[in-house]
Amino acid sequence: MKTWTRSFIGLGSNLNDPVQQIQRACEQLDEIPQSKRKKVSGFYISEPLRNGLTAPKPNQPNYINAVAEIHTQLNAERLLDELQQIEQQQGRTRSHKRWQSRTLDLDILLFGDQQILSERLQIPHAEMLNRNFVVIPLAELTNDLILPCGESLQTALNKADFEPLEVVANFRDQIQLGTEHISTSNPQGRRGHSA
Ligand code: ATP
Ligand code: MG
Ligand code: MG
Repeated sequence: MKTWTRSFIGLGSNLNDPVQQIQRACEQLDEIPQSKRKKVSGFYISEPLRNGLTAPKPNQPNYINAVAEIHTQLNAERLLDELQQIEQQQGRTRSHKRWQSRTLDLDILLFGDQQILSERLQIPHAEMLNRNFVVIPLAELTNDLILPCGESLQTALNKADFEPLEVVANFRDQIQLGTEHISTSNPQGRRGHSA
């Protein structure tokens, strides 16, 4: 029997009705085979990333960010394929420039306690602990998370002294999660998908 892995996905959008983009993406996470969406954080407003501390604020709309927890039987590369397909369905285009405005960005932040470095993937996500729009919603979902490096998320959060973020809405109650609740990192059982 395949094992289940708990993964956290970072979602971001700053184009074409970002709140709706993130809501739609959360629904699409439910359609990933052999996987199950468990929790979604509130939706936060964040400023576009600067290319260096002294760089001016980019001329881009603000972002909506959230973090979702999913449990999956896929491996990390297959999960990335599924996430990139959802990005494409929602009109994501990529240019050679980093951090351009986008309809949807889906990043794998954590994949169980795995540390992965391949041509396509770096897990934990290379920048996650430097980004308030990742760590704050992640901490909202899990208050006892130990990162693969052995440090607790809470310690990383305390160290970073992040700017607080405004939450636009807490969509957790609006995005139906079903009645089942699995809180272990190797959950058994799932809803709606064939393994
Ligand atoms: P950032 O990684 O700084 O958040 P970004 O999300 O805008 O930037 P993308 O254009 O979405 O970057 O992705 C570029 C490449 O990053 C992807 O093609 C993918 O192969 C790679 N990548 C590496 N690690 C990850 C990860 N943990 N999650 C998603 N993509 C990743
Ligand atoms: Mg990203
Ligand atoms: Mg990305």
